[in-house]
Amino acid sequence: MCLESGPVMPRRPIYLFNTMSRSTEPFVSMSEDRVGVYTCGPTVYNNAHLGNMRTYIFSDTLVRLLRANEFIVNHVMNITDVGHLTSDADEGEDKMELGAAREGRTAWQIAETYENSFIEQCELLNIVSPNTLCRATEHIPQQIRMVEQLEANGFTYRTEDGIYFDTTLVADYGRLARLDKDGLRSVMRVAAAEKRNKTDFALWKFSRADENRQMEWPSPWGVGFPGWHIECSAMSTFYLGDQFDIHTGGIDHIPVHHSNEIAQSENATGCAPFVRYWMHGNFLQMENDERMAKSKGTFATAFSVVERGMDPLAYRFLCMKSHYRNTMKFSWEILESANVAFRRLKQTIADIQIQANSQTGAVSKSDKGHSYEEKISDAFNNDLGTPAALTLLQSALNDEQLHPNAKLQIVETFDHIAGLKLMEAANMLSYAPFSAPSEIQELAELRQDARLRRDWKTADELRSRLSEEGYIVEDTPEGFKLSARDKVQ
Ligand code: AMP
Ligand code: ZN
Repeated sequence: MCLESGPVMPRRPIYLFNTMSRSTEPFVSMSEDRVGVYTCGPTVYNNAHLGNMRTYIFSDTLVRLLRANEFIVNHVMNITDVGHLTSDADEGEDKMELGAAREGRTAWQIAETYENSFIEQCELLNIVSPNTLCRATEHIPQQIRMVEQLEANGFTYRTEDGIYFDTTLVADYGRLARLDKDGLRSVMRVAAAEKRNKTDFALWKFSRADENRQMEWPSPWGVGFPGWHIECSAMSTFYLGDQFDIHTGGIDHIPVHHSNEIAQSENATGCAPFVRYWMHGNFLQMENDERMAKSKGTFATAFSVVERGMDPLAYRFLCMKSHYRNTMKFSWEILESANVAFRRLKQTIADIQIQANSQTGAVSKSDKGHSYEEKISDAFNNDLGTPAALTLLQSALNDEQLHPNAKLQIVETFDHIAGLKLMEAANMLSYAPFSAPSEIQELAELRQDARLRRDWKTADELRSRLSEEGYIVEDTPEGFKLSARDKVQ
């Protein structure tokens, strides 16, 4: 049944950029206080890389923002563990079966390994678990049912290798991508000769006799597996209803995957629009402007950040410094500088914490502090303006007129949405603080800078000098830690 209840405005206005209208629109939820959000999850044939994780940090920030605005959010994310072929145009091998061949394990083992590693990376990056994380392989009946509905509504045809969706029957097919049908078809690669039109896509693929697939199921059309796009239409509508509020993903999904999701869902359920706000995160790029990609084989993960001795949340901090709709550059040097800046931010907050602890008496809430909090909330509410919110936080921390307690309150407001665990880090750093003389602190900072330049010789010399002076320096994910030798022994 299509939804009819009236829209509800949030308490403070939220503005979101809607890919469908190519404009920033006031966010109006479909039903009172509740928001449904669907995020296209990872294809678990390999580790997710930091580019993928940027897209999930973006959707996590969005969900945190909605919750901070007192919405009850139902966040659903899928796990693609079958059906995603090496080409988005329904050609090539199933990525899961390729992963199995690469590692000499079963496709099921590959899916389990990389789903677990994805969840571990989410934990390292403080990405809140979605309310529902659903695997495509566990929703085969829902997918078959949707293909049956499309068949009953007259949108499908059969070829030798599967059941296809006829995109010429949808008048506004491709409206999300803003390409006219001919334009859209001309950007698609020439696909299986049997397809009637280039933009048509597989709903169900038959297992090939010579293929010996590990993942296959019986269906009314024959043994096979679902096309990649149908899983998102079937699971999103199963968990969130025929129409829901927000759908997120990376920008590469606009022309094919999300255009196909719209065509399938609206023509199976008869309800339009399937989704009211389409939101897309831009790419993480390497320095040569190429996007970070799994297929390229060389990519960084949250695990590699930890292996290099950095706080994985320094990557989340780096993401906060770019707007999600802009491309973001990645190199280890960029991340190392972000790690230093992040460490300084945590140390500043720890110092404020120490000041707050040493001041007696409660402070009444200051108007100025409150005004910073409102400005920060508004910056986030303005289409996830994380760079602006971060700048406001820095101004508040530097504002000498603000009481330390007011500053800590502002940090909490900011971090509720940014998810950088700032108070946790500050509590840790401010606990039993050790303060070295300023010249020793300076030597330690010089050593840290040398390490970041990979000037190991200078870094070692500076460590020896510190040791001669009676100080020990250790490197932790929070940055360097100084202690006096007599205190550690
Ligand atoms: P996949 O696991 O390939 O299905 O991709 C998972 C998510 O990551 C999708 O939403 C993609 O759009 C997104 N994505 C892929 N590459 C990048 C990248 N370099 N930067 C940001 N997001 C990406
Ligand atoms: Zn999807």
